[in-house]
Amino acid sequence: MTVQTALERFIRYAKIDTQSDENSQTYPSTAKQFDLLRLLVGELKELGLRDVTIDEHGYVMATLPSNLPAGHPARAKVPRIGFVAHVDTSPSASGKDVRPQVITYTGGDVVLPANPSVVIRASENPELKNNIGKTIVTADGTTLLGADDKAGVAIIMTALQNLLGNPSLLHGDVRVAFTPDEEIGAGTKYFDLKIFGTDFAYTVDGDTPGELNKETFSANQAVITVHGRNIHPGSAKDIMVNSLRAMADIIVRMPKDIAPETTEGYEPYIHPHVLHGEEAESTLKILLRDFNTPGLEVLKKRLEAIVAEVQALHPRTRIELKIIEQYRNMKDYMGKDTRVLDCMWEATKRAGLDPVWKPIRGGTDGSRLTEKGLPTPNIFTGGQNYHGPTEWLSVWGMDKAVETVTHLAQLWVEKS
Ligand SMILES: [Zn+2]
Repeated sequence: MTVQTALERFIRYAKIDTQSDENSQTYPSTAKQFDLLRLLVGELKELGLRDVTIDEHGYVMATLPSNLPAGHPARAKVPRIGFVAHVDTSPSASGKDVRPQVITYTGGDVVLPANPSVVIRASENPELKNNIGKTIVTADGTTLLGADDKAGVAIIMTALQNLLGNPSLLHGDVRVAFTPDEEIGAGTKYFDLKIFGTDFAYTVDGDTPGELNKETFSANQAVITVHGRNIHPGSAKDIMVNSLRAMADIIVRMPKDIAPETTEGYEPYIHPHVLHGEEAESTLKILLRDFNTPGLEVLKKRLEAIVAEVQALHPRTRIELKIIEQYRNMKDYMGKDTRVLDCMWEATKRAGLDPVWKPIRGGTDGSRLTEKGLPTPNIFTGGQNYHGPTEWLSVWGMDKAVETVTHLAQLWVEKS
């Protein structure tokens, strides 16, 4: 087994196109994700992991068995922990022919070579200043980089190699899972918690070094449908009921101070994001987001009030409001055992960073796994600017994540 750095692994994975596709009817959504998933099966076996499996859906799992000696006080008690990363990249930018640029960052803006109009600006990237004199990786300006989440894959693989190569680093059973289709919201669709078989898990899918995530939004989708009546405009007098006119009155009433573009931190929002319509019927999809789950009910009431007001203005239309549950704040389901959070905090400190808890204004695969009973907070990777051509990766940050994961496996032994 040749020892490899996280950077060497990352470059290899980044060159493999694994873009997922939200319009696909198959699972995984694109067959090319198997290219990386199957490569990982081979690499996990080569590293010496046990029970390396890939199922029909593409989920790759493997075990690093406990190396605790007989008689060690934690041997019977240490929980099984898992690390999870996704192999797919976002449909919002091309992931084909990614050409990673490994550069020493010397300050200022970074102009990408194949498209000089794509610039990673120092003014928009406060993390750059922590990387002066260090190595960063960018794409060439024509694609995304795919640090989201191939950095997470490289971090987990490298931490496994550290643990396997240093028997003095004591750990319990560690499971790993590499998953497809996270970027289209389906990363845990067929994730078998029984087969994974861990008590706690961590996704390695964050960004800024030191930032840890134990809270996500709670999320519902609202769908407003306006039913009207269509007829040829030439004979429409007193007959046509144009749903678009009522829909316009609805949209204009959406609160502008509770919108994604005007809020941050723990603030909730109502976000109208997809509109379809013609005279007979129009529909509006709206994202409702709040860290406080009961707050979703308050957002729903705002929509009900808007619908009632507009219904009165357009009595010949019929307006429906439907709420679809999406995901829940992982904090609601994290459970009583605080070790899952304490260990990641302490591991980050041992890696020499100042940890901070950062609420995620979105969901993660961990939101759904946590809700299903597997507490799964999220660890940073060192990547930035996900889902677009200015994505970049701090190699220093990635190496800190490798240290954090390596410490984390050992900390569970100490805390058991
Ligand atoms: Zn991700």
